[in-house]
Amino acid sequence: MTAFPILLAPGDGIGPEVLEEALKALAAVERRFGHEFQYERAVVGGAAIDRHGTALRDETIEAARRSRALLFGAVGGPKWDDPGAAVRPEQAILGLRKGLGLYANLRPVRVNPLLIEDAAIKPEVLRGVDMIVVRELTGGVYFGKPRKRWTNSRGRQAVDTVRYSEREIARILRTGFELARGRRRKLTSVDKANVLDTSRLWREIAVELAREYPDVALDHLLVDACAMHLVTHPADFDVIVTENMFGDILTDEASVLAGSMGMLPSASLGARGRGGAGMGMYEPIHGTAPDIAGQGRANPIAMILSVALMLRHSLALEAEAAAVEAAVDAVLADGYRTADIEAEGAAVVDTARMGTLVAERLSA
Ligand code: NAD
Repeated sequence: MTAFPILLAPGDGIGPEVLEEALKALAAVERRFGHEFQYERAVVGGAAIDRHGTALRDETIEAARRSRALLFGAVGGPKWDDPGAAVRPEQAILGLRKGLGLYANLRPVRVNPLLIEDAAIKPEVLRGVDMIVVRELTGGVYFGKPRKRWTNSRGRQAVDTVRYSEREIARILRTGFELARGRRRKLTSVDKANVLDTSRLWREIAVELAREYPDVALDHLLVDACAMHLVTHPADFDVIVTENMFGDILTDEASVLAGSMGMLPSASLGARGRGGAGMGMYEPIHGTAPDIAGQGRANPIAMILSVALMLRHSLALEAEAAAVEAAVDAVLADGYRTADIEAEGAAVVDTARMGTLVAERLSA
């Protein structure tokens, strides 16, 4: 039996609620596939501010380094929302990404055919949508220097800097090429090469790397065209790879395709070892949903699908990952829904029941 050490960081609001349901799925995976997951727990975000005066303790980064993966709920809430505060819950996320060297954010967007009729976008546009958006996480305008504000005789001024090195661009593009290789072998690199020098460098390196991946079809799309294409022809995409700020915006746009925030998982990955596996942080894309926290109304599927990503990308357990995804599909096919994805004729269940149903399907 292989034992896998995993760090759990539930966070605030619905974070702990959905993480508990994901653990039911992992317990079912243990029983069915004969693995053992060993958990350590860490307090992060608002809960850590209350208890330790900081959103992320050094001990937590150390504990994550000892683990094969980190399962993260969500952090934040009205209690800690003062934008001027020096200590803020989201510092936990940024600190973990930085401390663990996680530079690639993966957001798979698969539209479940069963949820198509109730989506905000036309069913014929959504049919067949199955893509992964890969966003560079640790470079670009969010981190570039100089960044500052000042005032002169012409009034208030501010500057931010977009900077990317060849190394940063090549490693994230490689993540995109490798993922495409395991899927439909199509990679769309998104930039703004008609205007930005960083984008021209990005495109140049993408073209160079493409020679190493002759089996992957590479195309380039300007970010403005990509924003349009995502809502008009989303099914055309397989893997999209892009820089930090473009990715920030496009991933939110892409998430609308899936209907509810409660359905979408994400992974943040760093350097990969042999066989492609490596430490990663896995979390739903949604926040702490203070409006429904404590009411049993949160959809745990995004967190459960984050577990599937963890099994695939950090533990190299593909069959187990696919089994978790199939169990979610089967429960939806049986007509069970949480309130956020309620449909006519469906049975609406609470957070805990949805988690139990998925775990039961996995055990069956
Ligand atoms: P949110 O994602 O928490 O909620 C947006 C809306 O989606 C709400 O109506 C909520 O009820 C609903 N929703 C979200 N997840 C759901 C789920 N699993 N099931 C059913 N409905 C769900 O975003 P927000 O309201 O903008 O932010 C609330 C707090 O969360 C803020 O403090 C924010 O800073 C924080 N936040 C944290 C993260 C993170 O930890 N990664 C991400 C986004 C926001």
